[in-house]
Amino acid sequence: MHTYTPKNHYLEKKTILVTGAGDGIGKQAALHYAKYGATVILLGKTVAKLESVYDQIIKNGGNEPAIVPLDLKGATAKHYRDMASTIGDQFGCLDGLLHNASVLGHLGPFAQISEQDWQNIMQVNVTSQFLMTQALLTILKKSSHSSVIFTTSSVGLNGRAYWGPYAISKFATQGMMQILADEYENSHMRFNCINPGATKTAMRAKAFPAENADNLKTPDQIMPLYLYLMDYQTSTENGKTFEAQPK
Ligand code: NDP
Repeated sequence: MHTYTPKNHYLEKKTILVTGAGDGIGKQAALHYAKYGATVILLGKTVAKLESVYDQIIKNGGNEPAIVPLDLKGATAKHYRDMASTIGDQFGCLDGLLHNASVLGHLGPFAQISEQDWQNIMQVNVTSQFLMTQALLTILKKSSHSSVIFTTSSVGLNGRAYWGPYAISKFATQGMMQILADEYENSHMRFNCINPGATKTAMRAKAFPAENADNLKTPDQIMPLYLYLMDYQTSTENGKTFEAQPK
């Protein structure tokens, strides 16, 4: 496991947007960033889940979060531009962005991938990240130090039979991160990727329905790496892919 112990309140006065913040790894990341002082923008599809995370943050004594209900499947460039302008008006800049939301789609042979599944997965896992990052660049640049984290997977590092468009979308995610890291190498913005590794969530249960989930790490246990990459005082990493659970 990656080890890193952050200082209390090290994210004070920072604004961090987390996609897929209502469940699984994104939910824990949002709770952790809030615990260390950040104001968190909770983006996701299911409003009730976002509201529950909102309530938990308030109950824990965190700053009041913002909620952005958005289905990445149908969102257009205009949605992201409007969102960026609202965040800019409200917070001035954006210090952190965690691209976490994604969908698995159907696992199965390449010969049977449907065009619809392909389009859906590419839209949610790749196109939305492109459009959102592009729209948010202006306010990420306004931060004195900003960190953008993408989320990959083991099957986005080495292709594996039957993982189809999900795996391909994760290769694309890695490419997007590397291009941004290179283009903005001499800026205050950093771009990195996390491979969470096998983690006990709804997505993992869908991919491996027969396994004993009690043997898996929980989202809470992999949070040190998510906290480290948001630390502008300690972390100078750029353009890298990190394993939350190195072998
Ligand atoms: P979950 O399925 O548990 O959570 C995914 C989150 O993304 C949910 O909050 C979901 O919202 C949101 N989301 C899905 N589709 C959309 C959409 N169209 N619009 C907006 N939000 C959406 O997944 P995990 O927490 O397991 O995964 C988090 C990330 O980690 C993903 O990128 C995944 O690929 C990656 N990963 C996970 C691994 C694991 O073992 N768990 C291993 C390797 C990588 P809602 O609940 O409202 O649908």
